[in-house]
Amino acid sequence: MASVQPLSIYPNVATATGPRDQFGRTMNYLRISLTDRCNFRCLYCMPPTGMQFQPKDEMLTDDELVRLVGIFAREGVTKLRLTGGEPTIRPHLTELIREFKSFPGINEIAMTTNALLLSRKAQEYKDAGLDRVNVSIDTLDPARFRFMTRGGRLDLVWEGIEQADAVGLGPIKLNSVVVKDHNQADVLQMARLTLDRPWQVRFLEIMPMEGVGMIYEEGLVTSAETRADLEAEFGPLEQLPSPDADPAKLWRIPGARGTIGFISPMSEPFCETCNRIRLTADGNLRLCLLHGDEVNLRDLLRAGGSDDEIGALIREGVWRKPWGHAAWEEHIRTIRGMSQIGG
Ligand code: SAM
Ligand code: SF4
Repeated sequence: MASVQPLSIYPNVATATGPRDQFGRTMNYLRISLTDRCNFRCLYCMPPTGMQFQPKDEMLTDDELVRLVGIFAREGVTKLRLTGGEPTIRPHLTELIREFKSFPGINEIAMTTNALLLSRKAQEYKDAGLDRVNVSIDTLDPARFRFMTRGGRLDLVWEGIEQADAVGLGPIKLNSVVVKDHNQADVLQMARLTLDRPWQVRFLEIMPMEGVGMIYEEGLVTSAETRADLEAEFGPLEQLPSPDADPAKLWRIPGARGTIGFISPMSEPFCETCNRIRLTADGNLRLCLLHGDEVNLRDLLRAGGSDDEIGALIREGVWRKPWGHAAWEEHIRTIRGMSQIGG
C-alpha cells in the first residue's frame, strides 16, 4: 500500500460547498477529463499528427471514476463538467452520467463537447441526468471549420447543437476560440446567432498550451479586440451582470434574445473567483489549468486507499492550489496540452 502523507496539519475544511484553499476560495466545481483522445485535431489544441496519448492502463476505469466522483461529492463538490479530449467518445458515457448524478450533492452535470456525435445521443444523455452542454464551434463557415478542426464536419456538429437544444440540454452555450488570420472575422456571424436564439455565444482568448507550435504567439486576439469588432458591426453592446464565479463577462446586442460572453484568461485573468478543480483522465487532481501542480489520486486508489484517505488527499491538494496565473506570465507553457488536462 502506498504511503499516505500525514494530513493532520491541514484543517478539515470540507463543507457542504466544497474544500477550501489557503486563499479562502471554495472548490465546488469539478471538471473531469473523461479521455485525452479526440475525433478532431483543432489547431490550437492538438498537433496534426504525433499526439502522444496516455496508455490505457494509466486511465481511470469506469469503476475508479465513479468511486472518485463519490468521494468528491462527499467532500462538497456539487457541480461536474465532463470534458476531455472529446467526452462523447468515452465508452459507457450514459452509464457514467447516471452514476455520477446518483450521488447526493451532485446537483448539476454539464458537458463540453465538439458535438460531432451528439445528435443521436442527446436524449439519452439528458435522460441519464446531463443538464447542459457547451459546444465548441469556432466558425459557421464549413471550409474554415474543416480547416480549424482538421477535418470536422460542421453540418453534423450543427445537428448536434440543434438536437441538444430540442431535448432541453440548454441554455445552449457555444464556445469559439478566436484566432487571428483564421476565424477572427467569423465572430460577427457567430454573434448574429444570438439575435433570435436564447443562446450564449462565448468568445475565448487562445491560451498557450503545449504541443501546438506558435499558434498562441501568432493568433491571440484579446476580448477587447473582439468586442470592438462586434461593436463596429452591431453598435454598442449592453453589459449584463455575470453570475458569480462565471469566467464569462456577459454582454448583449441591443434587442437580442441571447447573450455574448467574453472569456479572457490572458488579458483579464479571473483567478480571484476560481471555484474549479480538474480531474485528468489518468487520475490526477489538477489544481490550476495553467500550472503544473497535480496530486496523484489514482495511485492511492489503486493501492487500496480508503475514501477517507483519498478525501484527505483531495483536501490537502486543494489547500495548496496556486493563486493562479497573471497576464505577465502569458508565455508559460503547460507540460500537458489542453486535451490532456480537460479544458
Ligand atoms: N472536445 C471538447 C470540446 O472541444 O468542446 C472538450 C474539450 S476541449 C479541450 C474544451 C475547450 O477548450 C474547448 O472549448 C476548446 O475550444 C478549448 N480550448 C482548447 N485549446 C485551447 C486553447 N489553446 N486556448 C483556449 N481554449 C482552448
Ligand atoms: Fe478535440 Fe476539443 Fe481539443 Fe478540438 S478542442 S481537438 S474537439 S479536445
